[in-house]
Amino acid sequence: MAEIFRRFHEAEPEPKGELHHVNPFTLLVAVVLSAQATDRGVNRATGPLFAVADTPETMLALGEDRVRDSIRTIGLFNTKAKNVVALSRILVEEHGGAVPATLEALQVLPGVGAKTASVVLNIAFGIPRIAVDTHIFRVSNRIPLFVGTTTDKVQAGLEAIVPEPYRLHAHHWLILHGRYICKARKPECPRCHIADLCRYPSKTMA
Ligand code: SF4
Repeated sequence: MAEIFRRFHEAEPEPKGELHHVNPFTLLVAVVLSAQATDRGVNRATGPLFAVADTPETMLALGEDRVRDSIRTIGLFNTKAKNVVALSRILVEEHGGAVPATLEALQVLPGVGAKTASVVLNIAFGIPRIAVDTHIFRVSNRIPLFVGTTTDKVQAGLEAIVPEPYRLHAHHWLILHGRYICKARKPECPRCHIADLCRYPSKTMA
């Protein structure tokens, strides 16, 4: 286990997510918008949006109609526009315009589930949560790191067993590994730098 993460660290000491943001609030909005959408598609919409609204106050002032127009290219844009404005209102009215740094306060915001909250805690506040998306779920079960039947079980398992020095960045390393190397249909095992440590039965080295 430690050797796998030592190699991820060696290859990329400071892995970064691919959602553009300029502060914890824009990160929160970007993660909310990314449900069932690609990071690239979200970034295309949030560039112009964050140029005019990068705080809960300015997002609230922009209003739902204009937020909806800005994110029209993203799936579920109606619901997401409602959620972004509603969560901005709560941040202004209940948190002084700041993004709270606890799972409890984050996951009661509209459109924010435990996974979104974990991503925000990790990236914005340096709290070593390992939100499990489809990529991490697949990679963890394949190598395997932790075998689990649901994303919640895999998240709890990984957070318990990933060695502490690597826990903060594990989320990004595993997502990027799943997105670009250990792909769903055809993992690129010949160019995988942990192939000798992987026990995936369908691993191919040809
Ligand atoms: S060897 Fe193949 S299956 Fe194993 S982690 Fe690497 S890409 Fe994924």
